[in-house]
Amino acid sequence: MHIGGLQKLSLIDYPGKLAAVIFTRGCNFRCPYCHNPELVIPQRYAQPLSVEDALDYLRDRRFMLDAVVVSGGEPTIHHDLPELLLRIRELPYLIKLDTNGSNPVMLERIIQQRYVDYIAMDVKTGLADYEALCRTRFCVGSIRRSVDLIKNSGIAHEFRTTVVKSLYTETDMSEISQLIDGCRRYRLQTARLDNAILDPALSAAEDFSPAEFAALRDRWEINTANPEVTQP
Ligand code: SF4
Repeated sequence: MHIGGLQKLSLIDYPGKLAAVIFTRGCNFRCPYCHNPELVIPQRYAQPLSVEDALDYLRDRRFMLDAVVVSGGEPTIHHDLPELLLRIRELPYLIKLDTNGSNPVMLERIIQQRYVDYIAMDVKTGLADYEALCRTRFCVGSIRRSVDLIKNSGIAHEFRTTVVKSLYTETDMSEISQLIDGCRRYRLQTARLDNAILDPALSAAEDFSPAEFAALRDRWEINTANPEVTQP
């Protein structure tokens, strides 16, 4: 596995915890609003950080940080992700995994072994539109399987969707709400539509105003979980 970046301190990526964020390099999706193309497009990859250097940093900060977020790119495309999680766990740290949900086999292994304490999965759109939005071919049924695995995992979790006005449809949002039905935490987030996104053509598109986005949050978000509790 190559690590594409290390954010040394985050107050927002692990609910209620001081966390470092490890960004794994490489992703199997090509979401047009992605703001990390340097983690997704091989030609734009920056110099990687070694796993050992990242672990050394985490070891040195053990008494200043509570948690480590493993994000991407897409962490679950790496066959050695469980080994990385185990080594972070041994330091020890709480661990949150960010995933696009495309690899339920890896997720199932991670959940069964209790390698993480929190899982955040992006639900991009309704299943029928997934391949078009993410600009890739894959087994879309994997998304439903990952959602079900996470919902039934007994591990604290959230689902989240990035909303962009020019891509938004009520049909997709209704399908997402059916897919995640029964979850305790679902969040919407806006995209940062600037020229650094994966498809710069989208940066010129109109986006939601703050008032429009607030109305969407009121309508669709779910928040009945205590994020600090590992739920049964
Ligand atoms: S938004 Fe996430 S899933 Fe989509 S291309 Fe970027 S890193 Fe991959």
